[in-house]
Amino acid sequence: MRHWGQRVLNFVFPSTCDGCEAALTHEDLPFFCRPCWEGIRPITGSTCSRCGIPGLHSRSESDASELTCCHTCYDSPPRYDKATALFRYEGVLAQAVQRMKYKSQTSLISPLANLLCENLQGIDHMDIVLPVPLHVTRLRKREFNQSLALAKRVAQTLHIPLSMDNLARTRKTPPQTTLEWKDRQRNVRDSFSVRRPHDFLEKKLLLVDDVLTTGATVNECARVLRAAGAESIQVLALARTIAD
Ligand SMILES: [Zn+2]
Ligand SMILES: [Zn+2]
Repeated sequence: MRHWGQRVLNFVFPSTCDGCEAALTHEDLPFFCRPCWEGIRPITGSTCSRCGIPGLHSRSESDASELTCCHTCYDSPPRYDKATALFRYEGVLAQAVQRMKYKSQTSLISPLANLLCENLQGIDHMDIVLPVPLHVTRLRKREFNQSLALAKRVAQTLHIPLSMDNLARTRKTPPQTTLEWKDRQRNVRDSFSVRRPHDFLEKKLLLVDDVLTTGATVNECARVLRAAGAESIQVLALARTIAD
């Protein structure tokens, strides 16, 4: 029988990789082996110039140059200027984000923030970084806001100020994950507010979230940020859910 201390340690820090079940060594990351971590796939290829969704296909060679945004954005333009998500929300990355968010594994914040901050090329000339806020009751339950943790690191990396609480979540809503896609926009409507609009007046804002799904939450944030007088709003997310 193993020493009880080892068993406690294995419970807190599992000794096998969540992704492939290989034994972990001190050179690996928390919960994941290095090959699994390095296999996290970035989103590549052509993406919508507004919402960033990949796989933008033109219907013919001739309209390829004109097609820069997807049909959804063309029909109903988002309130933000541009959204960028770096990775597909799947496999090891999805496991890591879920561990961080729902099991409060804060040791994964740093490796996840590194993934984000190593890929900030093309995001420049921003004035303020801010996270998608959590409602205070959900924050109490989860103990940390994963978007704020990521936004802090982005602000440090880009050397621009972080606004932690000017955008606030003032209405508690059911989690978006419990809802059908079509109900998500309605669910988040009027659930955010800007406490000091003057701070965002004519500023270029970089709104950070962990995972984009329909984009309904960041779109609603962008609506109130624009109403507060923001000059432009870019969204940066670690990952995006992509329907196959
Ligand atoms: Zn592995
Ligand atoms: Zn789009």
